[in-house]
Amino acid sequence: MTTLTDNPISSQNTSNYQSINPNDGTTMESFPTLTSAELEDKLATAQSCFSIWKTTTYPERAAVLSKAAELMRASVDDFARLATLEMGKRFAEAQGEVEFSANILDYYATNSEAFLQPVTLQPAAGEGHMEASPFGLVFCVEPWNFPYYQLARVAGPQLMAGNTLVVKHAGCVPQCAVAFEKLLLDAGAPTGAYTNLAISHAQSDLVIEDPRVKGVALTGSVRAGRSIAARAGANLKKSTMELGGSDAFIVLEDADLVRTIPWAVWGRMYNAGQTCCAAKRFIALEPIADEFLEKFTAALSAQKVGDPMDVTTTHGPLSSESALLDLIEQVDRAVAHGATLLMGGKRIDRPGWFMETTILTDIAPDNPAFREEFFGPVVCFYRVANEDEAVALANDSDFGLGGSVFTRDVERAKRIASRIDTGMVFINSIDWSDAELPFGGIKDSGYGRELGNMGIQEFVNWKLVRTHDIDAPE
Ligand code: NAP
Repeated sequence: MTTLTDNPISSQNTSNYQSINPNDGTTMESFPTLTSAELEDKLATAQSCFSIWKTTTYPERAAVLSKAAELMRASVDDFARLATLEMGKRFAEAQGEVEFSANILDYYATNSEAFLQPVTLQPAAGEGHMEASPFGLVFCVEPWNFPYYQLARVAGPQLMAGNTLVVKHAGCVPQCAVAFEKLLLDAGAPTGAYTNLAISHAQSDLVIEDPRVKGVALTGSVRAGRSIAARAGANLKKSTMELGGSDAFIVLEDADLVRTIPWAVWGRMYNAGQTCCAAKRFIALEPIADEFLEKFTAALSAQKVGDPMDVTTTHGPLSSESALLDLIEQVDRAVAHGATLLMGGKRIDRPGWFMETTILTDIAPDNPAFREEFFGPVVCFYRVANEDEAVALANDSDFGLGGSVFTRDVERAKRIASRIDTGMVFINSIDWSDAELPFGGIKDSGYGRELGNMGIQEFVNWKLVRTHDIDAPE
């Protein structure tokens, strides 16, 4: 068999793995990219671990994941501090993410056996059933914006299903990546069950092609999705793609603005606006549009910019300088194409990577901003004449991740939800994610689901076993 050490590309790496504090730009630590030999060794270990891990019982796997959840909860602040220091999320948000990640691990420890029970079938003749078995070694590529939750979302279900994982985390959160791997080892996972890979994109391509790898899961940008899905497809490997979004936040004329505005602010500003399913396009019906925009603008203006470790801060930095510069360029381009800049649009004059809260209006369909994802504190505001126009505008997007509807009439909101072409719609809230709720999108937002019963099924082989009369048909 050809191994990774035979391939010259894999030894031509410089490290992209650096911990840099977004609050002040200081570099805390750099990590080397794996050598070809190290990568080969990790893949071989993960593969040999699979042959053992797949034979363990659900309670044995659950014991590891429950212990990991317990250890996470015992050190919430340590995990959270690392996330805040590496990617700039506000400390309280980081604490919440750590707790949620522990809940996900616990949820799969508790429920996976039931999700993967054999299913009895009723064939016309004889008897049959379907039984679940793990694919094998699964390669996951994960983003920095939720440095633990994204890992828990794959580790919880896939380890419980009996798969082993090799995981490439984003270059800017290397310490979070190492901390999560250590967590699972400390919880009793055998070496090779969950392996962090500090590798380049070229090495990632080799991992996808490696015959030992049986499935590929990406959460990231559309650009990464096109590259990774194409390579997985060329190698006939099942993949899941959790990509970007440009979710609509629809405000109907009867919405209760006192309660809607806080969701609008949270939906756009949580995680400094760097959430795939954040509210990004605000669509208000004409009768309420002026009042909504005025109150939303006032609420956004009241945000307090500051150090994300400071509990009074409500507006922290973006994850990297390149993210900040790209976002400013996107806003400038939107304005150059005719959008009105109602507020913000610039870098905040302080150390670190802070972007002013920004509101764009008058975004015509031929403006690039009409189709782009704004991954930061930038509101795109639209006004429409009626419900049909709101639905049409929500659907006029290359993305199809989520969306929300705010109204006092929940039945009307449900009818609208049925007409929106996305993987998820939220009514009168945008509480995006729960361990038991499937998460994912359609169109350029990707395919497949993570979390819930659906999430664990993605890399499981449901094998049909049929018993029939031994006499062959004549
Ligand atoms: P990104 O550049 O695609 O990075 C995400 C991950 O993919 C990182 O680990 C990155 O590694 C890796 N990567 C990128 N291109 C690659 C390639 N050609 N080969 C191998 N690995 C590659 O994404 P981002 O811009 O940092 O993250 C934000 C995006 O993720 C947004 O579009 C957001 O909407 C999306 N997202 C989606 C979800 C969801 O569930 N749908 C959740 C969170 C985020 P490096 O860091 O080393 O480049």
